[in-house]
Amino acid sequence: CGIVGVLGNNEVAPLLVESLKRLEYRGYDSAGIATVNKGRLDRRRAVGKLVNLSDLLVHEPLAGKAGIGHTRWATHGAATTTNAHPHRSGPVAVVHNGIIENFRELRSELAAAGLTQESETDTETVALLAHLYITRGATPIEAARQTLKRLHGAFALCFLFDGEEDLIIAARKGSPLAIGHGKGEMFVGSDAIALAPMTDRITYLEEGDYAVITRQGAVIYDENDHLANRAEARIQVDA
Ligand code: GLU
Repeated sequence: CGIVGVLGNNEVAPLLVESLKRLEYRGYDSAGIATVNKGRLDRRRAVGKLVNLSDLLVHEPLAGKAGIGHTRWATHGAATTTNAHPHRSGPVAVVHNGIIENFRELRSELAAAGLTQESETDTETVALLAHLYITRGATPIEAARQTLKRLHGAFALCFLFDGEEDLIIAARKGSPLAIGHGKGEMFVGSDAIALAPMTDRITYLEEGDYAVITRQGAVIYDENDHLANRAEARIQVDA
């Protein structure tokens, strides 16, 4: 139900949790974050209030300067830790708002290729699909691009990859997504409110857009893979 992503210069876990707190108003049943630290992708997830995730992070900290986070409002699969986001398959972690309408068809195709889900969610299918494309030789960016082409439904998505500490791919189709610009840092979130403590410089993705985000900035493409020029604006939100 809420998405955040940070490519920072400092530890991102506290920032991710703070941003998720700012999205609590949307409602949620579970939460989680993933980071890449020393090239290694890892995640923590907890059912219930964000304080449960914070408590887990005290006992099992998650280091790293690149990360994504999520508060979930379950649509497919019960509110369990296994169904909580981020979902992971091999080198790919995904957070998702919305619904992937064709996940059952995709799931059968993936099962035939030897990739099976551990959760009941429509979201995990997205991680599996990107994983499949990577095993077939795609780069993370190509894999995300190919994956997005296969998805039907309404969604906002962020991808984070093992071995990639300077890359988040964000996509919008039917669910809003805001990109935040910092100084040598970049952010992404479901809305500008989530990013308010970090930046007021916001670019909204338009319908069908996806963004390749690094600390240098965001390169935004439209649904036909053409470079898209999306304006940056200063958004006033009470931080
Ligand atoms: N459909 C996804 C799920 O049930 C995402 C729900 C959401 O937007 O939080 O896990």
